[in-house]
Amino acid sequence: MIQLHNIDKHFGSQHVLKDVSLQVAPGQVTALIGPSGSGKSTLLRCINLLEIPSAGQITLGDASLQFGHGHAQPGRQDIHRLRLQTGMVFQNFQLFPHRTALENVMEGLLVVKKWPRAQAEARARELLQQVGMAHKADAWPGTLSGGQQQRVAIARALAQSPGLLLCDEPTSALDPELASEVVAVLRQLAANKMTMLIATHDLRLAATLADTVVFLEDGRIVEQGSSRQLFLQPQNPRTASYVSTLK
Ligand code: ATP
Ligand code: MG
Repeated sequence: MIQLHNIDKHFGSQHVLKDVSLQVAPGQVTALIGPSGSGKSTLLRCINLLEIPSAGQITLGDASLQFGHGHAQPGRQDIHRLRLQTGMVFQNFQLFPHRTALENVMEGLLVVKKWPRAQAEARARELLQQVGMAHKADAWPGTLSGGQQQRVAIARALAQSPGLLLCDEPTSALDPELASEVVAVLRQLAANKMTMLIATHDLRLAATLADTVVFLEDGRIVEQGSSRQLFLQPQNPRTASYVSTLK
């Protein structure tokens, strides 16, 4: 379970996230939609503390942190504990270019979890198998298609068995055919009850993959609800206007 309470984020004088509260129940998929600049990436980055929220509270599994006036900045230990519980997938994959697919997936297990090499390799091969990339274990990222790179990136994000998978526009750098390979992997993860929070411009993906959809505009949650409700019976006119492009 992840809970965000009243998250605010400022960049200098710019107020980028405004009083954002949401929760994602275990095994549920939540899609984060909204116009460019609405704060989707910033929200994901706040959850794994790539950005530090200006105020609010994040509870993830057994870790809970408060931010803002009267609260100390999170220490390295706090950040580490929270990060161990999340995996992150980026729009542009961000694989290590000088490591093979297998080594990319093993990296976190070796460096962060300090697993013995043989055990890390066995786990990494299992994950590559799960995303349909076992046959490319020894390939360099540069020789893989975008869809293949993203599937390796998903395997890497899953390596430390995170309670929550954060995906920031996982398909938007891909042409439709390659995107569909990645969507198939996300669907399989959802079927296996992986808890996921996915920022996407792809409303069709949000509508078909997510249990819950959150519509963010100008840093504020305008509306959140079941995928069905948000797309078919939006309550707020702004949501209605934004999702109307799907029909
Ligand atoms: P997109 O759909 O284009 O990916 P988004 O919803 O992910 O947009 P964010 O990237 O979260 O939006 O950006 C929200 C706002 O925060 C934007 O105005 C952006 O310029 C600003 N912003 C994001 N990161 C930083 C940063 N590190 N420093 C200053 N401003 C930032
Ligand atoms: Mg973004």
